[in-house]
Amino acid sequence: MTIHPRSIGVALALVIVCQANAQEVALTQDHTQLSDTVHLLVPNPATAGNLAVSAGEDGILVVDDQLETSAPSIRAAVAAIQPGRIDFIVNSHYHFDHAGSNASFGADSTIVAHSSVRMRLAEGREAGARFIQGERPREALPKVTFDDRVTVHFNGEDIDIIHLANPAHTDGDAVIFFRGSNVIHTGDQFINLGGFPYIDRDVGGSAVGLRDNLATLLTMIDDHTRIIPGHGPLAMKPDLKAFYNLVADTIDLVALQKREGKTLTEIQETGLPEQYDSAAGFIPEGLWIQFIFESL
Ligand SMILES: [Zn+2]
Repeated sequence: MTIHPRSIGVALALVIVCQANAQEVALTQDHTQLSDTVHLLVPNPATAGNLAVSAGEDGILVVDDQLETSAPSIRAAVAAIQPGRIDFIVNSHYHFDHAGSNASFGADSTIVAHSSVRMRLAEGREAGARFIQGERPREALPKVTFDDRVTVHFNGEDIDIIHLANPAHTDGDAVIFFRGSNVIHTGDQFINLGGFPYIDRDVGGSAVGLRDNLATLLTMIDDHTRIIPGHGPLAMKPDLKAFYNLVADTIDLVALQKREGKTLTEIQETGLPEQYDSAAGFIPEGLWIQFIFESL
């Protein structure tokens, strides 16, 4: 699901995209080159997830494919980097704003994802308890799946696609680490917009699992790693650390009250300290407390 904390405007845009006529939203991709082979594409307007592109002598690999309507703008932006077929699409997770164009790309690109992504897409899920009408075409389902990790040896570097042990944002999240370029795409396990994260409880996502995965992620990167978040601007380690602190500290606050025997409603009524007011937006504070409470 698209999470744009503190940004009601973007949330409204998302509703418009999903519920009105998405065909009329003209989407472009803002391009930044991060290394010899790795590129960042940020959707404009920011109604869907960020993309990473590896382009070089072996071909083209793209991480995520945004909304169902995003394929033409993605094809145009990738072709401007390097013409030719897109060999691989990697899904960071199954949500409609990250894997939404799979049906368009799946016919001539190999889609790679965690095994749960394939399962959730086959169930017809878009995000949480929201489902598409009818069945997904076969091309939309990942052809190559993994449970722990898989490495693509491509364009002169190892591209590690890693499931970080715990259910977190969903039950099948992956981070994609371009080792030689020292660039990592986090999917929605990291949203760089200063707000509370969304936890997809309908598929077994966990706030505590997210915290633990973020702790692992912080040990995997160094001070020079460029971090592509699921949404929001390109980040560095201090940005990820700040997000980790937000998640970990608020979990501690809720866990303490739960241990004292307070109910979810009582904890929601007490609320979090004032310093967290600015993190409440697309995910309101009460909902974040609920995600935590249910994950403990
Ligand atoms: Zn998501």
